[in-house]
Amino acid sequence: VDLLDTRGVSVQFTMSGKRVLRAVDDISIELQPGKTLGIIGESGSGKSTLGRAIIGLAPVHTGEIHLDGTRIDTLSSRQRRRIASQIQMIFQDPMEALDPRLSVSASIAEPLIVRGGLSRREIQRRVDELLDLTGLSPRQGSRRPHELSGGQRQRVNIARALTLDPRILICDEAVSALDVSIQADILNLLVDIQEQRGLAYLFISHDIGVVARVCDRIGVMYLGQLVEYGDTADVIGKPLHPYTEALLSAEPQALPSRLRTTERIVLSGELPSPLHPPEGCRFRTRCRYATEICSTPPPAVQPGSPGHSAVCHFARELELVGAKHANSTQ
Ligand code: SF4
Ligand code: MG
Repeated sequence: VDLLDTRGVSVQFTMSGKRVLRAVDDISIELQPGKTLGIIGESGSGKSTLGRAIIGLAPVHTGEIHLDGTRIDTLSSRQRRRIASQIQMIFQDPMEALDPRLSVSASIAEPLIVRGGLSRREIQRRVDELLDLTGLSPRQGSRRPHELSGGQRQRVNIARALTLDPRILICDEAVSALDVSIQADILNLLVDIQEQRGLAYLFISHDIGVVARVCDRIGVMYLGQLVEYGDTADVIGKPLHPYTEALLSAEPQALPSRLRTTERIVLSGELPSPLHPPEGCRFRTRCRYATEICSTPPPAVQPGSPGHSAVCHFARELELVGAKHANSTQ
């Protein structure tokens, strides 16, 4: 049984004029204990909405979400609260998530106080442990959020998210607002914590370089759909979907040198509105391999090597330019 899995999950919102925005369309993913699944896509691809659906902040329209094989998307809000501690989420803007009036230690302690059952001394001990785990000093514990740097604030958010001992941490663009060197510190911290505690991460990011560095598996989203899914080495080294290929080529400087592509592929055209996705293959308006067949029946999932698949008519025929890969140099 997977720790977490979504089965054909769709999330849709009714907009003005009764138009329906299908932000997440038929997504099935699995997360294993102690592993990191990356979800990559441009803004508007639905990746944040997927994360929010998993923690119960966005309504699941169709499909199911399971934690340890138990369905959780249909729980009442009271039942939901009982499992809520197991899945926590951190966001891009560490300032926004913190109460400016509370000290760092008080912010970290808050979920424990709300849950109840611990003495003040036990709470203090937990807080000290979490400060230490996230690389914050006791002195920083008495500061307020505005007295800290962005990186320190994200450490506080991570500590706070770990207070109730979750098994899954959803990181939504968790390092995107930080300088590159600070990003690396926070990523290393997340990796260390995972090793110590066996946490699983759902790592949502628009940055393929970051995702390639920390994730065991990667799902690529485009206009609400999962267009490619597989082990990081396969998705990065032998992409099956033209969109993944373009993402890889667009940010060579973001990838470790051993993963850089040689060719730069420029996506033609703008990202279509998710309110009016193209018929047939949704990527066809920007795909350099598109043919007539791409505008009629939507492509089905095509398997590549085991555990690797993509939604493209030609997933197996196209010899896409992957990142210079890794098996040889790692
Ligand atoms: Fe491109 Fe056609 Fe494949 Fe879509 S189905 S990604 S348009 S080649
Ligand atoms: Mg987002």
